Amino acid sequence: MRKIDTKCVQSGYQPKNGEARILPIYQSTTFKYSSTEQMGRLFDLEESGYFYTRLANPTNDAVAAKIADLEGGVAGMLTSSGQAACFYSIFNICEAGDHFVCSSSIYGGTFNLFGVTMKKLGIDVTFVDPDASDEELDSAFRPNTKALFGETIANPALVVLDIEKFARVAHRHGVPLIVDNTFATPVNCRPIEWGADIVVHSTTKYMDGHATSVGGAIVDSGNFDWDAHSDKFPGLTTPDESYHGVVYTERFGKAAYITKATATLMRDLGSIPSPQNAFLLNLGLETLALRMRKHCENAAKVAEYLNGSDKISWVSFSGLKGDKYYELAQKYLPCGSCGVISFGVKGGRENAVKFMDSLKLAAIVTHVADARTSVLHPASHTHRQMNDEELAAAGVTPDLIRFSVGIEDADDIIDDIRQALDKI
Ligand SMILES: *Cc1c(COP(=O)(O)O)cnc(C)c1O
Repeated sequence: MRKIDTKCVQSGYQPKNGEARILPIYQSTTFKYSSTEQMGRLFDLEESGYFYTRLANPTNDAVAAKIADLEGGVAGMLTSSGQAACFYSIFNICEAGDHFVCSSSIYGGTFNLFGVTMKKLGIDVTFVDPDASDEELDSAFRPNTKALFGETIANPALVVLDIEKFARVAHRHGVPLIVDNTFATPVNCRPIEWGADIVVHSTTKYMDGHATSVGGAIVDSGNFDWDAHSDKFPGLTTPDESYHGVVYTERFGKAAYITKATATLMRDLGSIPSPQNAFLLNLGLETLALRMRKHCENAAKVAEYLNGSDKISWVSFSGLKGDKYYELAQKYLPCGSCGVISFGVKGGRENAVKFMDSLKLAAIVTHVADARTSVLHPASHTHRQMNDEELAAAGVTPDLIRFSVGIEDADDIIDDIRQALDKI
C-alpha cells in the first residue's frame, strides 16, 4: 500500500490516456444522456453515473475518493461544510426518538448542533467526559442509542481522544464510533486503524490549509456490520420507499452508509460543495503531509517557548512532556498532533485580550489551522453561546487563548509572541 505522502499527491483523480493531468473542474449542474431509459436507471440507483451535481459530480467525487483513501476507508463524500458533515454523519442513522452519546470536549459549533438543534428534531444526545472510564461511558447508553461521537484532538481544548476505548464501548453497545479527525488529519492519525467506523472532517482547516474554502467530508471504513444490528439501523437494512424499495446494505455492501447519505440526505438537504471549492481543496490536500510536518515542528517550538515564559499560567499541547494528554498523544499521534496550542496568560481575560491585541504577525481570526499563524479567544468568540458550566465541560477557561501556529519561520512567530507578552 502507498504511503501517506504519495496518497496526498496521487490518490483520487486518475486520468485516462489523453485526459487532463490535473483534476478538471466540472462546473456543470447536469449531465447529458442519449436515452430516456438510461437516465431512468440512474434515478433508480440501478446504474451509476452523473446526472445532477447535488447528487454527484466528478470533481467532488475524485476529491472524496482521495480523502477516503487517506483515511483508509472504502467510500467518502464531500459536504459544503464541516458542520454539514457532522450533521449528516449522525442524521444518516438517527431519527426522531433516537439518542446518541458524544464527548463533551468538542468544537463549539458541533456542541450547539448536537445539543440544541438536533434536540429540536427529536434526536437526543448525552455528553460524556472523554476521560471517563469504560463503565462511566457505558452508563450513558440507552436502548435507543445509535452512535458514539468524539474528536481525535478536541477543538479548542486539545483533549486527545482514547479512540480504542471509545471504539470498544461503542461496539459493546452495537453502535458505530464516529470520529471528527479535523485537527489531526489522516497524516497524523487514522482513526479507522484504531477502531473508528466513520470519520468526519471540516476540510476548511488543515486539509484546505489556505483558508480559501469552507467544506467537509465523511468517510466510511466499511467495517461496521449494520445487518448484525438491523433492529437499530432499519434505514440501512430495510427497504427505502423513497428509492423504490432499495435496501442499502444488500445493494451497496460496504458502501451502504455513504450511498444512503448521498442518495437521501444530499438529495433532500443539499449541502454540496461547489466543484470549484473541491478543486481548491484538492490543491490543499496535495501538500497536506508537508504542511502538517511543518505545523507540528513549529508548534512544538512555540509550546516550549510559552512553557518557559513567566507571563503564561499554563500551556496545553499534547506534544509537551508532562501534558495531561502526552501519553495518549504518543500512542495515537506519534508523528505530532497539530499546530494548535491552547494557553492561559497570567492576569486572566483582561491580559488575554491585551496580549492578542498586541500581536502583529499572528492575526485575530475565527479561523484556525491554516498556513498563517492566527489566534482566537474562544470564550468571547467561538464558544460565546455557552454558559460557564458548559465552558468548563468543554475545557474552555475564560483565559484560554487558541493559538494556531502556521508554517512561517518559528523564530518570527516566537518573536511576535515575545513582543506581545512584553506589553502586559
Ligand atoms: C471547524 C470545525 C468544525 C466545523 O466545520 P466548518 O467547516 O466550519 O463547518 C467541525 N469540527 C471541528 C473539529 C472543527 O474544527
